[in-house]
Amino acid sequence: MKDSYKHKGLRERLVLSLEEQGISDEVVLGAMRKVPRHLFVESAFEDYAYEDRAFSILSNQTISRPLTVGFQSQLLEVEQGQKVLEIGTGSGYQTAVLVEMGLQVYTIERQKKLFDFSSKVLRMVGCIPEYQSFGDGYLGFPNFAPFDAVLVTCGAEEIPKKLLEQLKIGGKMIIPIGGGENQIMTKITKMSDDEYETKEYGGFSFVPMLGRRV
Ligand code: SAH
Repeated sequence: MKDSYKHKGLRERLVLSLEEQGISDEVVLGAMRKVPRHLFVESAFEDYAYEDRAFSILSNQTISRPLTVGFQSQLLEVEQGQKVLEIGTGSGYQTAVLVEMGLQVYTIERQKKLFDFSSKVLRMVGCIPEYQSFGDGYLGFPNFAPFDAVLVTCGAEEIPKKLLEQLKIGGKMIIPIGGGENQIMTKITKMSDDEYETKEYGGFSFVPMLGRRV
């Protein structure tokens, strides 16, 4: 599989539809115009890769819907060169978008098969995160902290405390909160070591955030 004019055209159309649905951050849109999403889905889904929908990937997980990727990336409000911690590498698509946005990306995945798959694809497309690991996202990366932002791409029943600790003052965590099938997209801004401001951005549906690697 490679990138072609057809794929570029389909991506352009997808990005236009994201703009119509309220994604306006040019850096996010520019990154999504570049990343070849069809290489992050299983080949059976290649023809549908530029439809605005989620797909199953290995280990019963899902690649997030492009609108969700655009929405979460836009909520980060980060600048080029900043450090972002992503929890749930999954297919690696969101990781690639963050790398294309010019960010230093640190990403964690708890499923070995997905860790292996995403490592391979990210190298193939040349969107290389600063650091990628197979492990438990609840723990974050204390060695690389503090981060300007934390992006969680799985639904968490509660806010992971260790991840809040790893945010800079002024940094933000974007996290879908809620058990079961429905979560509320939430932005938590760290105002001081023990003060946080929380804003909610409506309902989404994610696979659950689980502990320990498998
Ligand atoms: N951004 C990814 C989303 C994948 S779905 C994409 O677009 O492809 C969410 C991912 O979070 C799954 O791959 C799941 O295995 C992973 N995950 C769940 N709990 C986790 C945890 N505690 N630490 C790290 N990853 C986790």
